[in-house]
Amino acid sequence: MSALLTISDVTRSFEVSQGLFARKKTLHAVNGINLTVEKGEVLGIVGESGCGKSTLAKMILGLLPATSGTIALDGQDMRSLDRKAVARRIQPVFQDPYSSLNPRKTIAQIVAFPLAVHGLGSGEEQRNRALAVLDKVGLPKRFADRYPNQLSGGQRQRVAIARALVMEPELVVCDEPTSALDVSVQSQILNLLLDLRRDFGLTYVFISHNLAVVEHIATRVAVMYLGRVVERTETARLFHAPRHPYTKALLASVLTPEPGGGIPETGLGLAFPDPLNPPPGCPFHPRCPSAFDACRTVVPRPIEDEAGYVACHLHDPDMAKALAA
Ligand code: SF4
Ligand code: MG
Repeated sequence: MSALLTISDVTRSFEVSQGLFARKKTLHAVNGINLTVEKGEVLGIVGESGCGKSTLAKMILGLLPATSGTIALDGQDMRSLDRKAVARRIQPVFQDPYSSLNPRKTIAQIVAFPLAVHGLGSGEEQRNRALAVLDKVGLPKRFADRYPNQLSGGQRQRVAIARALVMEPELVVCDEPTSALDVSVQSQILNLLLDLRRDFGLTYVFISHNLAVVEHIATRVAVMYLGRVVERTETARLFHAPRHPYTKALLASVLTPEPGGGIPETGLGLAFPDPLNPPPGCPFHPRCPSAFDACRTVVPRPIEDEAGYVACHLHDPDMAKALAA
């Protein structure tokens, strides 16, 4: 496999003011991320809401510039690529199929719209192409002239997927694509995405707070916490031999799910910290059951090894030596 997307030292910060006269504070939504997306893989990105995963998705889609660092598509810095050229190669599927489809357009018009924007083919060719893609996502011809409000949530998400695929992209960035759907419909959409990946040789970045969903679809997983990747490894390894205490806590929370998909307090102790005032040292230390003195002051070093990536002192051989000394 070779890298389709290379994310190098990417940060994104926002100036946030809390109240009219309060001094502005800097929110480090994405804080020094290094990741590659290999051709043909499904890279899952998981973490609680507010961890920066949607901000990262927007940067990958070219919808939001990075504050620093680079994102390269096939080795080319995306900033040097034409916006339209990027849109032909990378397409999004977002969470909410209710708000992302224009209610005044028919399904065929919605799916053909990217072709019209890019001036690809005649009107008739665009419609025929839209019908062909609708068929691929399991929506027969009779849906073509209906409107979004005549469709179920799952059918609308199929339309959103068709709209992404009509451009024949290489990479599809899915941000919580099944989170608004009933559980039974979720698995249909996940299986559809897997079939489409096989049929069209697609690559996905798949963002979700839901570990069960990610386990089903991803080949590798990156776990994010407060704007950083804390662990990254193959999916099977992540679920069977997690290394970072945060990953372990997330996995424990899957066994006792909360309504709404939130992470139960049990296993993670304190609530998610204020991203405007991130804890010093290891950002996870206030919630970490394994935290020790150094965790409160020293930022964990990134460890890359045959198992993947982890940022935790417990897995840093130098830290183990220093503690033993
Ligand atoms: Fe926990 Fe320390 Fe590892 Fe952070 S570095 S995850 S606080 S053990
Ligand atoms: Mg989000």
